Amino acid sequence: MRTPLIAGNWKMYKNINEAAELATTLKNVLKDVAADKAEVAICPPFTDLQVVSAVIKGTNIRLGAQNMYAAQEGAFTGEISPLMLRSAGVHYVILGHSERRQYFKETNEDINKKIKMAIEHSLFPILCVGEKLEERENGTTFNVIKTQLTGCLAGIPKDKIGSIVVAYEPIWAIGTGKTATPDQAQEVHKFIRETLVSLYDQVTADAVRIQYGGSVKADNAKTLMNMPDIDGALVGGASLKADSFEAIVKFYK
Ligand code: PEP
Repeated sequence: MRTPLIAGNWKMYKNINEAAELATTLKNVLKDVAADKAEVAICPPFTDLQVVSAVIKGTNIRLGAQNMYAAQEGAFTGEISPLMLRSAGVHYVILGHSERRQYFKETNEDINKKIKMAIEHSLFPILCVGEKLEERENGTTFNVIKTQLTGCLAGIPKDKIGSIVVAYEPIWAIGTGKTATPDQAQEVHKFIRETLVSLYDQVTADAVRIQYGGSVKADNAKTLMNMPDIDGALVGGASLKADSFEAIVKFYK
């Protein structure tokens, strides 16, 4: 049984005070979500990690980061290492988000290095994959997803794949208000699982959680999350307010 993971990606929103306030509200409203029904994570900006970590300490809410550099330490001005994330109490790290790929030119090779380094330091990567609108329209969605998965997972052995969560995030659905239909999402999630079977094996692939992300809201969460290969959600905009994030999480209560 795969426990769904609902993760909130706060992107570049919330200063320290706002982050503490949102985390405190979430801690209160989500306290009775059973850990075996759903796992919840929040991924604030780096500067908020420490304060949010203190707020959610002792709860079932996990802390996630939105990026990481693939080195332990060194002269890499402006970057944050896996050891720094660990010392701030981070459990998950989002890697390969489409905004990182698009605006910061991250390649599958870069993401692969980050995933390896994250796992080496006992962090749990949330690997984002997804196609652009023109790729969906020209029928290359599956090729794009396969290339992303094989590139990002290259050299990652079977016994490590259990620490990875995959997030399918069609780029045309992120922050646009357009959501993939449950059938469209399920089709790609199934393809992702089949690709994992071909890279590893059925048992390994069956254990990997595959989240859907792209304009998930309380009113579309239910039908998406009912699909057999959708194991939770990576939520952007709707995770910035406690009531909308709570409404998505409470679907699993
Ligand atoms: C995201 O940032 O990963 C995301 C899915 O955003 P939104 O929910 O706003 O589309």
